[in-house]
Amino acid sequence: MAKESETVSKKGKVAPRNPLPRRDPKERVRDFEEVALGFDEEAARAEARRCLQCKRPTCVEGCPVGVDIPGFILALAEERFAEAVRVLKDRNNLPGICGRVCPQETQCEKVCVVSRRGEPVAIGALERFVAAWEGEHMPEAGVPGFGTEVPKDRDKRAGDTLLSYELKHRGARGPKVGVIGSGPGGLTAAAELARYGYRVTIFESLHAAGGVLRYGIPEFRLPREILDREVEYVKGLGVEIETDVLVGKTVTLEELREEEGFEAFFVGTGAGLPWFLGIPGENLAGVYSANEFLTRINLMKAYRFPEYRTPVRVGKRTAVIGGGNTALDSARCAQRMGSEATLLYRRTRAEMPARAEEVENALEEGVALKELAVPVRMVGDEEGHVRGVECQRAELGEPDASGRRRPVPIEGSEFVVEADTVVVAVSTSPNPLLPKAEPRLRTRSDGRLVVDPETGETSVPGVFAGGDIANDAGTVIAAMGDGKRAAAAIHEYLQRKRGSGSQVP
Ligand SMILES: Cc1cc2nc3c(=O)[nH]c(=O)nc-3n(C[C@H](O)[C@H](O)[C@H](O)COP(=O)(O)OP(=O)(O)OC[C@H]3O[C@@H](n4cnc5c(N)ncnc54)[C@H](O)[C@@H]3O)c2cc1C
Ligand code: SF4
Repeated sequence: MAKESETVSKKGKVAPRNPLPRRDPKERVRDFEEVALGFDEEAARAEARRCLQCKRPTCVEGCPVGVDIPGFILALAEERFAEAVRVLKDRNNLPGICGRVCPQETQCEKVCVVSRRGEPVAIGALERFVAAWEGEHMPEAGVPGFGTEVPKDRDKRAGDTLLSYELKHRGARGPKVGVIGSGPGGLTAAAELARYGYRVTIFESLHAAGGVLRYGIPEFRLPREILDREVEYVKGLGVEIETDVLVGKTVTLEELREEEGFEAFFVGTGAGLPWFLGIPGENLAGVYSANEFLTRINLMKAYRFPEYRTPVRVGKRTAVIGGGNTALDSARCAQRMGSEATLLYRRTRAEMPARAEEVENALEEGVALKELAVPVRMVGDEEGHVRGVECQRAELGEPDASGRRRPVPIEGSEFVVEADTVVVAVSTSPNPLLPKAEPRLRTRSDGRLVVDPETGETSVPGVFAGGDIANDAGTVIAAMGDGKRAAAAIHEYLQRKRGSGSQVP
């Protein structure tokens, strides 16, 4: 356990954070292999010892799924690695994913006490290390109940800990619960519900599970064997996954309820409907939504052409419009496909919503950033192919509703960025199919489902929702937090329905 004197010197300086090694940008930009390399044991132990083991760990409050962060870090510092796995997975079913893609700098690490004096403890990198250690040393841990014992006082300490349910009820067959969508929200809700003892089936419209983790986030940020392993873990808890089922079309919620006996649902269908800018020229050949561009490359593996015969047109110069994770991923994919990518962002780097680490990675890889550029029109040739993006220069004005300074276009400042491929990565909204098929589901003006903020319950009794279909936080961990809360609420709902006091299953 780290004593304060080890981390914070008498002069108030904190020991520097252990850097997460990354591959050389010149080498990594030629392939889709993972960019960031994890800590080795020595670096992980050293980083774990930077943790102060605070009595009031603010980091836990900053974690939407309530991981016992000092608990798993302490186990790590004391080289009790299996215990670190158990503590982490008690609250987070997808640690290898979260350790790679969660924006820790705006959540747990932002409120880490060490950050008052220097760089916070690298909680995300430690989480990633624990998941990797598990993969290497406990391959059987891909399925639940891998032989770790729950300490006797655990239930008292954690109160609602789900691991205790898992251990008590493994093999139990409770009522059927349907989960629509296999993104991080759906996977988490399903895992938690299975741990309560319900019979859970995930219905996924694509041919593989994972949602954005599969079709959006590229392999160089999230290797598919990590995703596959964590999906297998969820299946190991007893969850069934039916792919190629579009709920609302292939089958309705009503049919699942009436004909197949599902008693409650979690809807985690995400926000996969891309927005365009509504400017002239967006129908030119060579203009993609980021959704289509990334799906072709990641899910349908266009980057492994001709092994996979997925066409995607990536020219010499690619302009990507936007400043979020989706824009960054599109630009870095284009760069890896041999194009010169330029990000067109209407604010400045300081306001970019993407993870800071990924902005740094992209720039290192040679992605160009044009700040304060507001696209006004796509420029095409006589054959209908895109040839560039006309932009207006902007300056920053007063903050808008997001708290970021608003870009104000400057009249007469137009300029053209040449491009033969353009990717529009500005925003997305929920797919309206399910709400249309189930008109009793009330929606907001932005198409998201109206839900109770505490429980995730929708306007239809027994139907709960979370993740991007219900909230606009737009992060993996926020979707997971929603899934976890909704699973607890579904458990309560089903217990109520079956008569108070009855233990489900
Ligand atoms: C390119 C990209 C990069 C991102 N990078 C990050 C990042 O680094 N860090 C971060 O925290 N967040 C990131 N995000 C945001 C994050 O991925 C999302 O907020 C998160 O995935 C939302 O999870 P979800 O469970 O709500 O749904 P999703 O992940 O969107 O999954 C929804 C699933 O439901 C399925 N589905 C939809 N309709 C139906 C239906 N009717 N029937 C059956 N199945 C259906 C879809 O096929 C999909 O698989 C990124 C997003 C994108 C697009
Ligand atoms: S706030 Fe930071 S130092 Fe304190 S327990 Fe959490 S990770 Fe450790």
